Amino acid sequence: MNFEAVKKQENTYIMHSYGRVDIALTEGKNATTQDIEGKTYIDFTSGIGVNSLGYCNEKWVAAVQEQAGKIQHISNYYYSPVNTELAERLAKAAGMCKSFFCNSGAEANECATKIARKYGEAFGADKIVTLKDSFHGRTITTLSATGQDSFHQDFLPLTEGFTYADKDSIASVQEQLDGTVCAVLIELIQGEGGVIPLEKQFVKDLRTLCDEKGVLLIIDEVQTGIGRTGSFFAYQDFDISPDVVTAAKGLGGGLPIGVCLVNEKLQDIFKPGMNGSTFGGNPVVGAGALVVLDYVTEPAFLQAVNEKSDYIKKVLDSVDEVEFVRGKGLMLGIKLKSKNAKEVLLQCAEKGLLILTAKDLVRFLPPLTITKDELDKGLVIFKEVLSNNQ
Ligand SMILES: *Cc1c(COP(=O)(O)O)cnc(C)c1O
Repeated sequence: MNFEAVKKQENTYIMHSYGRVDIALTEGKNATTQDIEGKTYIDFTSGIGVNSLGYCNEKWVAAVQEQAGKIQHISNYYYSPVNTELAERLAKAAGMCKSFFCNSGAEANECATKIARKYGEAFGADKIVTLKDSFHGRTITTLSATGQDSFHQDFLPLTEGFTYADKDSIASVQEQLDGTVCAVLIELIQGEGGVIPLEKQFVKDLRTLCDEKGVLLIIDEVQTGIGRTGSFFAYQDFDISPDVVTAAKGLGGGLPIGVCLVNEKLQDIFKPGMNGSTFGGNPVVGAGALVVLDYVTEPAFLQAVNEKSDYIKKVLDSVDEVEFVRGKGLMLGIKLKSKNAKEVLLQCAEKGLLILTAKDLVRFLPPLTITKDELDKGLVIFKEVLSNNQ
């Protein structure tokens, strides 16, 4: 099939909820991928931070294939050794206590919401404060948690009980802690909101404030987690620890998984029957996630992520059209001086580089395993596009 045939089939049979780039990807290796017409691209997107080990990492493929040939799914009525291993490895890497497994970032945040409500039940507190410009998912409740009106319109009424504070303003959060709040939910770097890192002091002060008020601090690390920002979880570089942390995107290395991790205080919050997910804890996905953790829990691997980040920043530093670069590790937002981010994305694709945008910024989320050679090839195309005058 050629691209035009795929596009025709798509337009006939798939609902039009995505604005797609006119490319159909069919295979890949690390950060290099081919489309259906055989054209090659360098990939600075990793499927929005999902393919943390790039396309088709050999160890990941072997583990997933082996598990698929052994047992592909068991219901949560039985114990799963893949899952118990994954939960132990996550707890140790995160400095947290127990896990609940599900299938996506939104579902992990739904779980965190249920934990917060259950926690607050005892003292009549059911509200959750989130931040303006945040993004927490597309289900009705996680849309409600998302502090951006543009996502809300058309789908009202949303789940009650969410209010929005200004980022980096302790006063603004404090104002809303009126005794009816059970949790504050934040991203440490707002991804979809424009790759906006929170101030370290704000995050530390927020931790203190939540402790004083008996309010849970939930950190959504769906995008920032699992090595993406150069530490296992981003909060480990903010010198705090949350009560609840959610992760998803990069954890499975390309297969759907979400997790909600809690600290010791909350380890017994759920009783049997209180939460569940048919696919949650799938062993094939878990086998892939264990390979991801093999890489991402190695200090040398995380150091390499930071070195690649520094390298990208250094290269972009000398590019005229770049106003600034923000973000951490391999989660970078690039503000351009005069060019339109969306147009730059399309021109890069034309020349063989896949990138993302976030609001009016260009966004890079390359696989954590991207090689220097792949980085260089991609950056050459990026610079070329930024320097042409059309
Ligand atoms: C992508 C994202 C989500 C939603 O994850 P899904 O797997 O698409 O449901 C939630 N929070 C953050 C911070 C994200 O980046």
